[in-house]
Amino acid sequence: MWLLLIVNLAGKVAAVAVGWSSPAAAVTLWLLPDALLAYHLFVPRSQGLVRTARRFATTRREAWLTIDDGPDPDDTPRLLALLAADGARATFFVVGEKAARHPGLVRAIIAGGHEVALHTQTHPLATFWCASAARVGRELDAAREVLRAAGVRPTRFRPPAGIKNLWLAPALRARGLSCIGWSARGLERAGGNAEAVAGRVLHGLAPGAILLLHEGPRVPAAIRVEAVRRVLGRLRELDYRCVVPAAEQLAG
Ligand SMILES: [Zn+2]
Repeated sequence: MWLLLIVNLAGKVAAVAVGWSSPAAAVTLWLLPDALLAYHLFVPRSQGLVRTARRFATTRREAWLTIDDGPDPDDTPRLLALLAADGARATFFVVGEKAARHPGLVRAIIAGGHEVALHTQTHPLATFWCASAARVGRELDAAREVLRAAGVRPTRFRPPAGIKNLWLAPALRARGLSCIGWSARGLERAGGNAEAVAGRVLHGLAPGAILLLHEGPRVPAAIRVEAVRRVLGRLRELDYRCVVPAAEQLAG
């Protein structure tokens, strides 16, 4: 984080120093570090600000199904039934506010043998990148408090849409949380039907893949739950098991 900030500041100082003698160079020096910083904030696969797991270590045909944005009173019970019928395990990255409204669903996820992980308290998609250190802390702590009341001590976190923040790494470290990304996502709102979503999330499938799908009303009605059903079906055909990896499998 500090390296990126120093590079950014140095770029600004150099731009001012070059000044009017070479306007093109000054503009480049001013903007280039911003572009570098923006890359590490907004590109989910970037590793410059926060180390983010994008796959897990395994030699078996195993994938990690992760479902974001719940719990949802319509979708979560149906997803749990699907997973149970399949003998699959998954991780639900839940939003604290929703978990507070539906603590019974959080307990049902745990009772089903799945993992509950953090996805912030309010899902501040547009403002997470520029949130202050205090706000980032509040997003984590409020959601942790909700989950703790439901008997869960989360160890994993996924930022909204994979967007980072300058203060995220130390905030996660202080709370013993690791940052989880994905190797493929369904992009449910990007168009196409449930089959297209399943195709996107299973594209390039390999052992250790982290698959990202969503639940809740933001997912188009025809895709809700159905995309997960199709993904589970395809994984079964391909002889893949859905597992929740241990911490050691995410190191390195
Ligand atoms: Zn989300």
